[in-house]
Amino acid sequence: VEINQAVKLFSKYLKTKKLKFTWERKTILEGIIKRRDHFTSDELILHFERNGVDRISRATVYRSLKLLEEAGIVNSFHLNDVFKVFEVISSEHDHMICYKCGKIIEFFDHRIEKILNEISKKKGFKAISHSINISGLCEECQNKKA
Ligand SMILES: [Zn+2]
Ligand SMILES: [Zn+2]
Repeated sequence: VEINQAVKLFSKYLKTKKLKFTWERKTILEGIIKRRDHFTSDELILHFERNGVDRISRATVYRSLKLLEEAGIVNSFHLNDVFKVFEVISSEHDHMICYKCGKIIEFFDHRIEKILNEISKKKGFKAISHSINISGLCEECQNKKA
């Protein structure tokens, strides 16, 4: 997602919610849009603090991430009971998440895209994005005997 495109998308979404495109929301959007990794909200807060942006409250970050998710700009999933991880929707890929160590394995398979498109079409649904998260145990954790 390009920043201009994301700004347009987000401001459009905020308008439908009758919310303002505040500088905090803009800063958060700019802070995440170039990221290609998976991050927690705490990591994002730390990133802002390190970069001298410490006037954004924790609650604002949490709420903005939720709005960005609703606007289809970020995607989130649970690593385990404690951690929720975010990422900017840039390329279509899915995840395998190890519930023991929290490892994230990304994968992509054209066949999945094809099937999902077919299913959506059948239901008359216009699909924009999807997110498949497979929860389980990674190879290393399987080999570790408890
Ligand atoms: Zn593991
Ligand atoms: Zn990912």
